[in-house]
Amino acid sequence: MHLKSLTLRMAVLAAVSTFATQNAVAASTTTAATATARSTSVSGPDTTRHQASIDQIVKQISPARIEATIRKLVGFRTRHTMSDTVSETEGIGAARRWIKAELERCGAAAGGRLQVAFDSHIAPVSARISRPTEIVNVVATLPGTQDASRERMYVVSGHYDSRNTDIMDAEGDAPGANDDASGTAAVMEMACVMAKYQFDATLVFMTVAAEEQGLLGAAHWAEQARQNKLNIAGMITNDIIGSSRDEHGKVDRQQVRLFAEGLPVQKENSETVRTLIQTGGENDSLSRQLARAVKESGERYVRGFKVNVIQRRDRYLRGGDHMPFLERGYAALRFTEPAEDFNHQHQNIRTENGVLIGDLPQYNDYAYIAQVTRVNAAALATLSLAPASPARVQVRTSKLQNDTELVWQANLEPDLAGYRVVWRETGAADWQGSRFVGKATEATLPLSKDNYYFGVQAVDKDGNLSPATYPVPLR
Ligand SMILES: [Zn+2]
Repeated sequence: MHLKSLTLRMAVLAAVSTFATQNAVAASTTTAATATARSTSVSGPDTTRHQASIDQIVKQISPARIEATIRKLVGFRTRHTMSDTVSETEGIGAARRWIKAELERCGAAAGGRLQVAFDSHIAPVSARISRPTEIVNVVATLPGTQDASRERMYVVSGHYDSRNTDIMDAEGDAPGANDDASGTAAVMEMACVMAKYQFDATLVFMTVAAEEQGLLGAAHWAEQARQNKLNIAGMITNDIIGSSRDEHGKVDRQQVRLFAEGLPVQKENSETVRTLIQTGGENDSLSRQLARAVKESGERYVRGFKVNVIQRRDRYLRGGDHMPFLERGYAALRFTEPAEDFNHQHQNIRTENGVLIGDLPQYNDYAYIAQVTRVNAAALATLSLAPASPARVQVRTSKLQNDTELVWQANLEPDLAGYRVVWRETGAADWQGSRFVGKATEATLPLSKDNYYFGVQAVDKDGNLSPATYPVPLR
């Protein structure tokens, strides 16, 4: 590409971007005029501002409360899925009853809208289950307050079961302070803080069992959701978010990894997958769009903290509770600390060569867990206040042209301000340009669909943005 045409292209990008400053827009009047001639540019709500309620939520997330929750969970000695369920002080039964009571206490204090319940099923004997075992999730639902959005749900989870070196050891101490009391405490903290606020869509705060025995608790809930055709617009698991220190002692408190799958694997969606492959949309699956939205809102509200999107399903040799959701066609993500110290996961407590091994609470960084919790809370609040992602977004492909014509179905939310078209170069991970187009349900952009990836977001009157929808060819 010639330098001149590159400059022009950059000017077009800047001119039509709502990220751009007024000065940049003024400086490229000619190209802006060209752009507006083809599709009306409208000034929309400020999508970069902070919503006061989300700032309050972020501020109220407490490292001290998170630490107290984790130490309480560790105090149950083991939370192995097949451990004691009768004792009031030890084992997984006591742990889940305590989690439920805590969530009920928070919900009552917050006005009584948080619905707390056990979700239970009997798992038959399998590779990691030696006798039929009751698997119990603790699920706290905060119903949405907007009729048009209540059926849209966002799920955030952590697993409260723990394990030892031997996956079948239901007796030995298994503190699981990081894996995954950290994620469990994050979910409980969010439920307690956010239950005081109102969100358009429904939030589900879930602590699940039997992650270590094969993702059984999450899979049961996800399967019920699929059978009942629940509209799960996004799911996030928090698993091993406890430590900022790697095995060499290096501390990084400035970021968290967010694992996001590319092409979905489930069979039912083979047409979706085919379309993504045919149009180069491998990086625009539902989970990747959700990851972009979570990164954007998380980083906006937690200043100086990076959400490092890892473009894969999970780490090598590991899996998590987002996977049963992915396998059923839902967008799902996993948060995990930046560099794990494997001496402090899945290990019996012991000393080896002077090193104390085991998943113990002294290896957690509670201020760090609070930061990851804040990122989750900001993202979930934004998602559940924002409208749904636009449906039936399509790109016209009937003629050879260098403009891009997009059409989509109108959203139904009463607080909708309009839509924002976003785009990026094909090698870029994040959106580079955007244009607010008001309540139009189509837009023409002076950029070639051959050279850019596009998406359409819905925006509410407060500037809350939905994840983008990838356009499929209009047939
Ligand atoms: Zn785990």
